[in-house]
Amino acid sequence: MNVCFITSECTPFAKTGGLADVSAALPAFLSRKGIRVKLFMPLYSSIQVLEYGFVKASELSQTAIAMGNEAIPIDVWYGQIPGSDVDVYLIDCPRFFHRGRIYTDDPDEADRFILLQHAAFVVMQRYNFSPDIIHSNDWQTALMPAMLKYHYNWDRLFASTRTVLSIHNLAYQGLSNPDFSIRAGLPREMADQGGLFEYSGAFSFLKTGIMMADRLSTVSPTYAKEIQSESFGEGLDGLLRMRSGCLKGIINGIDTDIWNPETDPHIASPFSAKDLSGKSACRAALATEMGLKLAENDPLIGIVSRFASQKGFDLLLSVFRDLMKFSNLRFAILGSGDRHFEYFFDQMSAAYPGRVAVYKGFNDGLAHRIEAGSDMFLMPSYYEPCGLNQMYSLRYGTVPIVHKTGGLADTVIDSDEFPGHGTGFSFWNATPDVLKDTIFRALDWFEDRKEWKNIQIRGMKTDFSWTKSADEYIEMYQSAKRESC
Ligand code: ADP
Repeated sequence: MNVCFITSECTPFAKTGGLADVSAALPAFLSRKGIRVKLFMPLYSSIQVLEYGFVKASELSQTAIAMGNEAIPIDVWYGQIPGSDVDVYLIDCPRFFHRGRIYTDDPDEADRFILLQHAAFVVMQRYNFSPDIIHSNDWQTALMPAMLKYHYNWDRLFASTRTVLSIHNLAYQGLSNPDFSIRAGLPREMADQGGLFEYSGAFSFLKTGIMMADRLSTVSPTYAKEIQSESFGEGLDGLLRMRSGCLKGIINGIDTDIWNPETDPHIASPFSAKDLSGKSACRAALATEMGLKLAENDPLIGIVSRFASQKGFDLLLSVFRDLMKFSNLRFAILGSGDRHFEYFFDQMSAAYPGRVAVYKGFNDGLAHRIEAGSDMFLMPSYYEPCGLNQMYSLRYGTVPIVHKTGGLADTVIDSDEFPGHGTGFSFWNATPDVLKDTIFRALDWFEDRKEWKNIQIRGMKTDFSWTKSADEYIEMYQSAKRESC
């Protein structure tokens, strides 16, 4: 089976969040199962092509991509996802992708990803690659199914191609000026008020994908249900209910080679479920690195996150001082984003020196060290399509405290609700007081070191590898080939 996997980010080349991790791990697993995957993404200026062994495809030099009345030249760099057989094609168009950031608020943001999608079709045509499945991810590549049906349908190469759209986050929809539909080669009137591709007066990339893809998936079973409700549906719940027969929730796996406390090169000392002793060294090293005063009995909560309203940190804001007052808690925080949260965490690190440490920015190595060195990991997200950090935490014996939503609900078992089976702590109602109570619940358990170790070990032994999820994607591809839904 041939698969075209198209994405706006992929580890290790370019990453802002979980999509990048999935875009590397899932294709690699598919390819291990005998599927031939070609992955397409932009060549952002931050990607060091030569370091990853990419070569310029000379036969595709200055290939013209037709967008509306314009022909935009691109180059293509070819390489592979390290350690896999997945072919990667980086679409090189400095005009669009040399912006200093992966995502922008620039007026031509829609155009950037329309170019990527046209380029994927053109490269497949040039290489005579006939995909059984085109697998799109999120709004940036959600036009592929419509472009296939309206613009590239003349080409027999794609005659039996079926399309899959994975929704990693429904909140980002790519709402654009309806004129961009022409650039994508789609009928302009369908992006106008009342048209199939219109939402809220705009041309919606994501809605277009939801309407046109042969199959839809999202990244956890609970999120698949949630997005069909008004409160999580971001205005598209009606459509998602209409297409529920084609929608499947498949939990993300994690890359257990990269996130492995036994072999992780970023951490101070290896450890495992059999021998947790190395975790204390990681804890001490983290405290030194971040400037925390940390005694053995001081519980350390880690946070690694985008600071976006989705992540629920405003719940933490209002109870933070109480938490600090009534406990000997320590916090190791890594993240960036919303100024409001950056400012608050800065203030807290100034107010509680040696107890609250904050690193603002993106730092992959530190993310690993926080996972390894913390006792608990906090994710109070209002919604979380899947979430990866809670799974990394479980694997590193770092007990997650989470809001019971989306993938968090599917992966963390509350230790009070399921005595003897718990792997973490979770709460239903996302309110500051409930969050505070849940953290205190976790602190009570932390004092019973024997039980705490059992919780850690159960989490560490849980299987979050891609094996099962990759099989579910393959089943979905096969069913898309077999029948319509
Ligand atoms: P989302 O995709 O919504 O950001 P996920 O939990 O699915 O959330 O994935 C986040 C990924 O990004 C994880 O791999 C996490 O370790 C990483 N990450 C987030 N913020 C940072 C940061 N500031 N530094 C390093 N890694 C980060």
